[in-house]
Amino acid sequence: MEYTVQPKVKETIQKLTGMKAVRDALGFLKEDHENSISQQLELVQIPAPTFHEEKRAEYMAEAFRRLGLSDVHIDGTGNAVGVRKGSGNGPRVLIDGHMDTVYPLDTPLIPRRDEEFIYCPGITDDTRACAAMLTLIRALNHAGIQTSGDLVFMGSVREEGRGAFGGMTGFMNENKNIDAAVCMDGCGIGGIIYQSTGFKTLEITFHGIGGHAFATFGEVANPLHAAARAVAKIADLKVPTQPKTTYCVSNFHAGNDAGIHAIVPTASIKINYRSNGQKELEALDAEIMRCIREACQEETQRWGKDEITFTVETYCDVPAGTLGQHDPIVETAWEAITYLGKEPMLEEGGPTNASIPISRGIPAVCIGDGGPATYYHNAALERFPVKDTWEMPQLALLIALSAAGVEGETKSVL
Ligand SMILES: [Zn+2]
Repeated sequence: MEYTVQPKVKETIQKLTGMKAVRDALGFLKEDHENSISQQLELVQIPAPTFHEEKRAEYMAEAFRRLGLSDVHIDGTGNAVGVRKGSGNGPRVLIDGHMDTVYPLDTPLIPRRDEEFIYCPGITDDTRACAAMLTLIRALNHAGIQTSGDLVFMGSVREEGRGAFGGMTGFMNENKNIDAAVCMDGCGIGGIIYQSTGFKTLEITFHGIGGHAFATFGEVANPLHAAARAVAKIADLKVPTQPKTTYCVSNFHAGNDAGIHAIVPTASIKINYRSNGQKELEALDAEIMRCIREACQEETQRWGKDEITFTVETYCDVPAGTLGQHDPIVETAWEAITYLGKEPMLEEGGPTNASIPISRGIPAVCIGDGGPATYYHNAALERFPVKDTWEMPQLALLIALSAAGVEGETKSVL
């Protein structure tokens, strides 16, 4: 793709990569790769499904302490946080990797290694980012780099599934002084995620009285029929292709076999809808709620007796947002990937931990996409490519230094 990077960003990457200390740090990341992998193997064997990350958080906090970070703590949400102090003259930059994996607590976690890969559930998503963060701090310490702004390191909880970026949301709510964020998720380089795909996951329960399928017929409205009317209406909704906007009724539940001849008292549906545009997401939200209200009214009027009502439980609610394609942090990621010899690519959408700062107008990118297939979220196949994977912390280092500034050498690109 045709993409031009502004001189300020080009010059910053040139200056940084010309500095001896930065070259030392980049070289160190390659030399430290086997150490980093050993830590990744320790971490991957600590089970950490979403909402059960406590043990990993302790590991990360202890590692942060040993590496000399200050203000190391586990915050109110459960995130492990530590600060590498800057001189105080630059933006405060968050470097994040989520600790949770998608596998249940009892999943066997026995890593197996061959020439090219390490296989284990969770080895890439996102155990890698935790290990990458630690090698990155060692590289900064080894090279003696003094940033202008603080670097805040965080192993975050609740990224996946029903966690819905809850760790990052909790952290950002408590810390209004973050100026930029670099989220690592995965193990490759190339893809740059700079947008937040907004989404909602809801459970709607339709309530009635219920009764016998024959004896009570005509005396009560049927909540299952109301739910079906709602699904039929939702199925006909039209959504824009740009920005990409989608919806899916993913679950429909009512009744049981014992009550096979009963009018159910409740029926529920689950629905997930997403958009790369916040306006479009809100418009779709209003349409879905209209479908549900109308379905309840129609089923109520059909019989004219009791009223069908509904309740909503919200499982996930992530706002949409985007940075400009030429936001300095996006250009910096582009330029740094080019420097590292890979082909950069701007990705469309993507719900990641970066969604939360992006949707609040704070410059943030998520990196980690690229390289060979890692089959994340597949317990039998998930794997981590050993070769070249020191490049992701190298990339994170360059973006973080560009954003925070290096004392006496470079100013922040932000
Ligand atoms: Zn992930």
